[in-house]
Amino acid sequence: MLLNIRKIIEEPGEIPFSFEIDMSDVHFDSVHAFLSPLTVKGSVVNSAGVLTMDADLEIESVFICDRCSSHYQTRKRLHAHAVLAQELQDEDNPDIYLLEGDNVNLTEIIYTIFILNMETKSLCKEDCRGICASCGKNLNEGACGCKPEPDPRLAVLKQLLNE
Ligand SMILES: [Zn+2]
Ligand SMILES: [Zn+2]
Repeated sequence: MLLNIRKIIEEPGEIPFSFEIDMSDVHFDSVHAFLSPLTVKGSVVNSAGVLTMDADLEIESVFICDRCSSHYQTRKRLHAHAVLAQELQDEDNPDIYLLEGDNVNLTEIIYTIFILNMETKSLCKEDCRGICASCGKNLNEGACGCKPEPDPRLAVLKQLLNE
């Protein structure tokens, strides 16, 4: 979505926006599926000559747990913030996005921020117990009866103490 902000480029003001981005073709290793489009709601503001964009993003997703591989559904919420400029003055500031003439390319900005904020780790719960390496049982459903692997460091320690 291109938002024309001509009327607030030179003077204070606010232009609200709301739209959706289709995410059905986007793939992440940690995501099994996006169940909804990414909804975007926010505004572009000129305050004291500085143009900023703020938006709330929301999407319903099914993630894959890194430890136990189970699927879990969660509503991901994210706040996106960007500074808008007509030309790049500070190339090191990753929060600055350029205007395209009088327009803000909101889809591109939101998409970039969303992807940079996707988790690289996903857990179905903080204390997920994962899967037993020997029998493959999901340990969140209960212990599996396998003997714990002996810790090789303990074997060395035992040897030393016995000497
Ligand atoms: Zn898990
Ligand atoms: Zn086991």
